Amino acid sequence: MERRIAGFHQDDELHWVAELECGHNQHVRHTPPWRNRPWVTTPEGRARMLGTTLPCRKCDQGAPCDRVER
Ligand SMILES: [Zn+2]
Repeated sequence: MERRIAGFHQDDELHWVAELECGHNQHVRHTPPWRNRPWVTTPEGRARMLGTTLPCRKCDQGAPCDRVER
């Protein structure tokens, strides 16, 4: 399920987490060479990704909303 990115925050280990419009959170790690997401390391890059979509596996699985953890 493609979901739009509504915002970002960092978790306890300073990994970036995308907040999707559906209420699920998804890590967007920049850990080369496996995951190359240099955009996540800059405010400009993150701003550019707002409104773009990520496939949400939690929606596919019917997982409960992540927002309650915050
Ligand atoms: Zn979702």
